[in-house]
Amino acid sequence: MISIDIMTLFPEVLEAVLSASIIGRARKKNILDIKTHQIRDYAKDKHKRVDDKPYGGGKGMVMKPEPIYDCFKDICKFRGARPKLIYMSPKGKKLNQDIAKFLTSESNICILCGHYEGVDERVINSIVDDQISIGDYVLTGGEIPALVLIDAVGRMVPGVLPSNVCFEEESHYNDKLEYPQYTHPFKWMGMEVPEVLISGHHKNIEKWKEEQSILETKKYRPDLL
Ligand code: SAM
Repeated sequence: MISIDIMTLFPEVLEAVLSASIIGRARKKNILDIKTHQIRDYAKDKHKRVDDKPYGGGKGMVMKPEPIYDCFKDICKFRGARPKLIYMSPKGKKLNQDIAKFLTSESNICILCGHYEGVDERVINSIVDDQISIGDYVLTGGEIPALVLIDAVGRMVPGVLPSNVCFEEESHYNDKLEYPQYTHPFKWMGMEVPEVLISGHHKNIEKWKEEQSILETKKYRPDLL
């Protein structure tokens, strides 16, 4: 069992995605314990402000440190332990399958989603353990990056998919891309499924998959080989 807490200004955006499909079912079965936390609930003033102008001038607003800190303190209390706190940030380590795999070994993770120009640097220096980016581009907020991370980690948690083979044979698990996949009908638009896949010869099928996996990698991502 892994617990994932998410600090955000848009819990409804996260809930819409995290309640659906495979991750949604894993939550219902209590294999994944995912909770969203509204940072605004921790704002102290009557206007519930969570952002303010940047010191030194500049465009945009910066997320204030106190509501984030208080929200995280509450999560630590609720979990009875301090989760590893990851800030989704374009400055972070670029997410890959190895990072996602590594995170499945954590039992408590907390994710901070930034917005506007990001969060006050003192939050990063005082409570953030790691920063993760989903790529070298900038999005408006950390919610989509958090969903990407949770999906990548969540699907490798035992019990979420029917078997570990479901992700171990897939692209990037072993620095290779997956072999091509086919389903019914056997013949479509004049193109047939490779004969070996209907041969019933298990060893030959495995050999074909291994060869095709290397060919796919050479074709689409030679840098991985
Ligand atoms: N001013 C920041 C900078 O230049 O580094 C960018 C802030 S961005 C507009 C707002 C928030 O979106 C960030 O605080 C972060 O949480 C999230 N974000 C944007 N791009 C991201 C990426 N590539 N990976 C992860 N999070 C990202």
